[in-house]
Amino acid sequence: MSARNILVINCGSSSIKFALVNEAQSSFPLQGLAERLGSPEAVIHFENAAGKESLSVPDADHQAALAQILPRVEEAAGGHLDGIGHRVVHGGEKFFASTLLNGDTLAGIEANIQLAPLHNPANLSGIHAAMNLFPELPQVGVFDTAFHQSMPEHAYRYAVPDLLYKEYGVRRYGFHGTSHRYVSKRAAELAGLPVENSSWLVAHLGNGCSTCAVVNGESRDTSMGLTPLEGLVMGTRSGDVDPSLHNFLHNTLGWELSKIDAMLNKESGLKGLSGLSNDMRTLTEARQAGHPGATLAFEVFCYRLAKSLAAMGCALEQLDGLVFTGGIGENSAVVRERTLAHLKLLGFKVDAEANARCTRGVAGEIQAAGSPRILVVPTNEERQIALDTLALLDA
Ligand code: AMP
Repeated sequence: MSARNILVINCGSSSIKFALVNEAQSSFPLQGLAERLGSPEAVIHFENAAGKESLSVPDADHQAALAQILPRVEEAAGGHLDGIGHRVVHGGEKFFASTLLNGDTLAGIEANIQLAPLHNPANLSGIHAAMNLFPELPQVGVFDTAFHQSMPEHAYRYAVPDLLYKEYGVRRYGFHGTSHRYVSKRAAELAGLPVENSSWLVAHLGNGCSTCAVVNGESRDTSMGLTPLEGLVMGTRSGDVDPSLHNFLHNTLGWELSKIDAMLNKESGLKGLSGLSNDMRTLTEARQAGHPGATLAFEVFCYRLAKSLAAMGCALEQLDGLVFTGGIGENSAVVRERTLAHLKLLGFKVDAEANARCTRGVAGEIQAAGSPRILVVPTNEERQIALDTLALLDA
């Protein structure tokens, strides 16, 4: 059988990120991003080994954009596409694994809209568009939340009245599951350990950030909750704040809930603390130049990350290693070094040279002698989604 091709699609409300994954090739034959969909500025960016190209598609919606993407994907796939894998943000308690998409499973995703009112409708519009365009192709949904469905109840329940959980699903779900699953498995492979008998702390640090405790290939706890706002300091998200902050801001400033929610999700985190940027590269340079806001944002980010990792340790009986991934985790030696400096009690010691070496896709171990293992592992959510799609095609 020749190597199969899977198109991986990640739909946002006005964007489609896509990648063609060939099971025998480590890089993607074609990838790209359609953005500003539904506006006169709608554009599709394509990237392959030959270079980059942009195509203006004024007022294109998801389906119109996919109709432009399809012929190029098929050409790059040598005329043979085997399936489509869709990233879906919220699977609620209905989905604990990736699933073939059909009438029943689509209804399940729709039933979770109230848990992810911005994300699931965008994911669904991409799925419907892809199904209209490729009715013959098997399509698979891969959920950000599914990996964390193995959390025990004491980790996923909030201490609020029981009814809120039973009637309205108010609980911790966690996100970034596809990344935590992929990198913890890769970490076990790199360390020469069986994933089904290993224990990891994982820090996924991108524009969104979360930690996870992974035991024997299963999530046992994670820092995000009902929504991706809980937990760590992120690019523009605050992470944990006192839940009474809403009340305080309403009483003192007269702010409405929607304004507070927008502030906590879009104006906080690294951006809010630094007053400069949500981008860790910009902040790293500004910190070196002595910018006080960038320095503060960096310090709070690393301390809160260390605190979360230490807390995740409660879910482990042994520790085989700590894994850094995501744009910041894979590239920022200074964030790793500063975070690990707060974790001396757990015995972590970093090797400065190895730490500096692991950037731009270089995986490796960065601990000094006598320290528990510390790994840098590039994530690859698109490949994991393609692997899940292939597994369901085989089943
Ligand atoms: P992601 O969402 O995984 O693409 O990660 C985005 C984040 O990674 C942004 O905050 C970037 O500034 C950060 N990032 C990417 N490269 C570097 C780097 N070389 N040093 C520090 N942060 C980086």
